[in-house]
Amino acid sequence: MKRLLLLLPSTSYRAADFLIAAERLGVEVVVGSNERQALESTVPGKTITLDFTDLKGATEAVIDFARERPFDAVVSADEDAIVLAAMISEALSLPHNPVSATAAAKDKHRLRELLTAAAVPTPPYQLFSIDDPPGILAQKVVYPCVLKPTFLSASRGVIRANHPEEFIAAFYWLGRILNEPEVRRLGGEAAKKILVEDFIPGKEVALEGLLQDGQLSVLALFDKPDPLDGPFFEETIYVTPSRLPAPVQEAIAECAGRAAAAVGLREGPIHAELRVNERGPWVIELAARSIGGICSRALRFGVGLTLEEVILRHALGMPIGSLERERPAAGVMMIPIPAAGILINYQGVEEAKKVPGIVDVKIMIHRKQKVIPLPEGRRYLGFIFARAPRPEEAEAALREAHQKLKFEITPFK
Ligand code: ADP
Ligand code: CA
Repeated sequence: MKRLLLLLPSTSYRAADFLIAAERLGVEVVVGSNERQALESTVPGKTITLDFTDLKGATEAVIDFARERPFDAVVSADEDAIVLAAMISEALSLPHNPVSATAAAKDKHRLRELLTAAAVPTPPYQLFSIDDPPGILAQKVVYPCVLKPTFLSASRGVIRANHPEEFIAAFYWLGRILNEPEVRRLGGEAAKKILVEDFIPGKEVALEGLLQDGQLSVLALFDKPDPLDGPFFEETIYVTPSRLPAPVQEAIAECAGRAAAAVGLREGPIHAELRVNERGPWVIELAARSIGGICSRALRFGVGLTLEEVILRHALGMPIGSLERERPAAGVMMIPIPAAGILINYQGVEEAKKVPGIVDVKIMIHRKQKVIPLPEGRRYLGFIFARAPRPEEAEAALREAHQKLKFEITPFK
């Protein structure tokens, strides 16, 4: 029986999907988590507590743990432990991405440096310090521009500015986000930096891919049909297959493959975000992980494999079969948070589920919990899933279902 170490941050949305995948593959799982309580009840005796921020210490702990019975693969379910997974894999001589490549993909500034050096189209950028005087910086940038942290995700802290006044306001706003204690702890030195990029207009797509020995296979290309023009960049609807012309889709895949090579990624899932305009595709983001949240539930491959099964099979060296996505179109909507406050109540889930084409509606935030929209927030109210013969039908179903949902949020006092 193969043995898998699954690194699972306690806040992960992906725990169930990865554990189910492992069970279906008949592999033994040890869960490495940064909080024991969270998982001991799910898989008693099969957990190891690791400090995800102490890469060296966590790696040594796993080497010790693996001494009696080795692991066949180490997989991180989420962004947080991607670098650690690479480091442990290296120590255990398992196939993996270079540690430096996984670290580069997590650092938006390093990513821009590597892509620019390899002549992969990516936004022109400048790196500033939060202590620089924004009034002077505002004269040095090209408008419109995008300000962002180098190390956060889910569009947190990403703000567009169209002119110097907006730049200064955005700079202070982002500075406040970077000064939150939790963000400072997470970012360390990086929490003192602000990356400013030219705003790239165009249609945005997300590419789910699998790297095998440096070769990229596209698992799904999602259109993002809602305009993402700022000032904040809330993810909402993803629909696959893409409705872009085939040659454009090929150019996107080629560009993503070159980006992965430029960063040095060779194995496992990638999630790339690109914009396409009359000059072709531009890489906005490249991450050494699969799609976030529970969005992967929109995808099925070959004879019905989930994305998590594909990832685990690849990591464990098990045959995958076809990477072809199922024929119907699929869509997922990340339900945006309309206002800051406390979620008092919500209604309409049953009505939303009845909309033709809707497969499921999952509300992820409990009543009485805090909800915080972008740019500070980082969670979604939930997810809506659709399946339909054609992508425009999947998109329409998501919009109709979303209309049925009503969220009652009382503002913070
Ligand atoms: P995160 O990793 O937090 O998701 P991204 O760098 O992917 O941050 O930015 C989030 C979103 O903001 C992107 O999906 C895109 O819509 C928008 N965005 C970011 N940078 C740019 C840019 N330079 N030009 C145009 N849009 C951008
Ligand atoms: Ca992104």
